[in-house]
This record gives sequence, structure tokens and C-alpha cells, in this order.
Amino acid sequence: MNIILLGPPGAGKGTQARILVDERDMVQLSTGDMLRAARTSGTAMGKKVADVMDRGELVTDEIVIGLIREQLEDTSHAGGFIFDGFPRTLAQADALGALLADMGHKLDCVIEMQVDDDALVARITARSTCGNCGEVYNDATKPWPADGKCSNCGGTDQTRRADDNEESLKTRLLAYYKQTSPLIGYYYAKGDLKSVDGLGSMEAVAAAIKGALG
Ligand code: ADP
Ligand code: ZN
Repeated sequence: MNIILLGPPGAGKGTQARILVDERDMVQLSTGDMLRAARTSGTAMGKKVADVMDRGELVTDEIVIGLIREQLEDTSHAGGFIFDGFPRTLAQADALGALLADMGHKLDCVIEMQVDDDALVARITARSTCGNCGEVYNDATKPWPADGKCSNCGGTDQTRRADDNEESLKTRLLAYYKQTSPLIGYYYAKGDLKSVDGLGSMEAVAAAIKGALG
């Protein structure tokens, strides 16, 4: 099964993708994670995208489509792919359809995660992650453990993303509404869209997604 998790920044796509990976042996392909990894390892591409990402704007279609193409070619299909943070533009959506078709695969389902804008701002400004394993924490609902150690891996490197601030979040939300939200209509028209309420607890949202996937 190949699925897309679609929704604004802070909708919980990464959190739910991790749950699906654990439960269904699926492979998570997050362009945001790939771009951050390129920055950390200091590649030419990583340097090129750094400022754009920190401002909260989208990097070019060419770069992210290239990243996804590489991953699709290199990764065994396992339980299927979860596309997280990709596609974000109509051009990316068309490219993904073509890439999957070339490989003899298809897209099974697009899950739209609906969360209202006030909740997004609150979530993102409270967010941190484990620098070692990527576990996601929230200052209000899932605080970093008091003993200073990640509950998943024991790592001590609590990190906050450079673009998780109000200014950049405003730009990310605008980019979402202008460039990404048309994909909701695009996939609805194709008959692939399922919408879930992304506002509930992590477990409630996971159950809703399970229901949508059948
Ligand atoms: P979020 O969904 O929380 O905004 P991501 O981790 O998915 O964050 O992405 C972080 C940043 O990486 C984006 O703001 C953008 O600059 C860049 N990015 C990630 N995926 C894409 C994509 N598919 N197309 C263009 N830019 C992307
Ligand atoms: Zn960890």
C-alpha cells in the first residue's frame, strides 16, 4: 500500500507516519527529513536550501522530486511507502504519479489530516524532537522526560527545528494554503482522498487513519 499524508505543518504527519512504519512495515519518505539530513551533512544541495527552509518557503520541485526519485529507486518496497511532506505542489503530485507508474506501483490512498490553524501554531511552537531517533515531543501534551533522556532511545539531544518559530510558521502556512491545499481537490477528483480529524489524541488520530485505510 502506498499512501500520502497530506496536511498543513504541524498536522501530525510525521508522528502518524512513524506509527504506520512500526505497525505495517511501511517505509516513510519525508522530504523535510531528507532536506534536513542534507543540511546536517553539509552537501552543496543542503547549503543551497538552508535559507529557503528557514524562511519557511518551499524548495524547488526539481530538488524534492530528485530526492524522492532516488529513494524510490534505492529502497525495497516492503509494506509500501508513506509520503510525508511530499507532494506539496501540483507539479510534484504529477511527478509522483509518473514515478510510481514507471515502477509498476500505484497510489492507494491520500489521507488529509484536518487541524485548525490555531492548534497548528500552538503545536509547532511547543514541538521538539530527539536528535538521535526523531521521536516527537510536545511541551504541553508529551513533554521531554524529566530525567533528560528520550523515552524511545535514551538519547539526551533534545532539538528544536530552526523553522519552528512564529515568523517562519506564517510563511509555511501561506505556502500550504497557496501551493499545497489545491492537492486536496486534485486527489478528491481522482477518487483517492480520505479526510480524518487530526485534532484528537495521537491514538485517536491513528485509529481514524487505520479506519480510512481499511
Ligand atoms: P512541516 O510539514 O512541519 O512544515 P517538513 O519537515 O515537511 O515540515 O518540511 C520542512 C521544510 O522543508 C519546508 O518548509 C520546505 O522548506 C522544505 N520542504 C519539505 N518538503 C518539501 C517539498 N515537498 N517541496 C518543497 N519544499 C519542501
Ligand atoms: Zn530518541
